[in-house]
Amino acid sequence: MSYSLPQIEWFAKPDPDSGEAGLRFECTMCGNCCSGPEGYVLVDDAEVHALAKRIGITPAAFLATHTRHTIAGRSLTEKITPHGNDCIFLDREKFPGRAVCGVYEDRPKQCRTWPFWKSLLVSRKRWELASRMCPGINKGPRFDPEEIARRRAVVDI
Ligand code: SF4
Repeated sequence: MSYSLPQIEWFAKPDPDSGEAGLRFECTMCGNCCSGPEGYVLVDDAEVHALAKRIGITPAAFLATHTRHTIAGRSLTEKITPHGNDCIFLDREKFPGRAVCGVYEDRPKQCRTWPFWKSLLVSRKRWELASRMCPGINKGPRFDPEEIARRRAVVDI
């Protein structure tokens, strides 16, 4: 009987250029990940309650006015802007030239864990592809492989 050793995650191996394991990320507040083509930001019951409380309405009202059904599940709504389909909470006014989350402290898990999603971490190629859209990828502080894996496990996207 033969056994195969567990695969080492690609992001746990030393980078060919830097020699470092792990990945770098630092948000530049460009807003790209909160806009673009139609998408979804999934919200669970606890997140609905927190967001509703934050903006001062009931969870039922929040569900009716700020969420919609998508093929992936219940999502925040979007607003059409010259930049694309912005998340309903994306604020492009507060800091000129920047796009910031208007509910940052209560943002959903999907947003908290970007860009360490399963779908982006399948390979270095996919990660580098995402860096074309997100200028914060491969910049800033390095996240160690354990922390990346912890964040990746939070949401199934
Ligand atoms: S795309 Fe990247 S840099 Fe831009 S707002 Fe999103 S996380 Fe920040």
